[in-house]
Amino acid sequence: MTDTSQSPAFQAAEERLRALGARVTQPRLSILACLIDTGVPLTHQAVIDRLPADGAIDRVTVYRVLDWLVEQGMAQKRAGNDRVFRFSLIEHEAARAEVHRQHNHFHCSRCDRTFCLEGQSAPAPQAAPDLPSGFAIEHIELTVNGVCAECGTRTASAPPSSGETTCQN
Ligand SMILES: [Zn+2]
Ligand SMILES: [Zn+2]
Repeated sequence: MTDTSQSPAFQAAEERLRALGARVTQPRLSILACLIDTGVPLTHQAVIDRLPADGAIDRVTVYRVLDWLVEQGMAQKRAGNDRVFRFSLIEHEAARAEVHRQHNHFHCSRCDRTFCLEGQSAPAPQAAPDLPSGFAIEHIELTVNGVCAECGTRTASAPPSSGETTCQN
């Protein structure tokens, strides 16, 4: 393994901890650098897998530091469809949300997955609902609900798993 302590992510992590006025410790540096570097939401285990395998940072410390980063407002903790918590950097989430605002989505009511409809423009303005007076539209997000190709072929003859409707809001 190469020495990662000089990597840009590591330096960014150190700057952020200092800006926060927090104590700069090796576990905080390594784990924050890991989130900065990766860019996708990570489970506890995924963070552990990315740390040096020298055992210097134990599992409990990883849990504690990740929760601490959430408390400090630097990271976000979210359970996925698999109910496993994933951690990601707040600004990565903001950037991702901005990307997803540029296209439409398809939500499968059977597997509960959401697919990006890349290359599709946002809904036309005439699709805008009537708003109460004084309300202004900033952007419209369109989510099409239905059954994805995978669920469609797998459960073509089976009844839908539930009749529930899910509200994305
Ligand atoms: Zn998307
Ligand atoms: Zn599906």
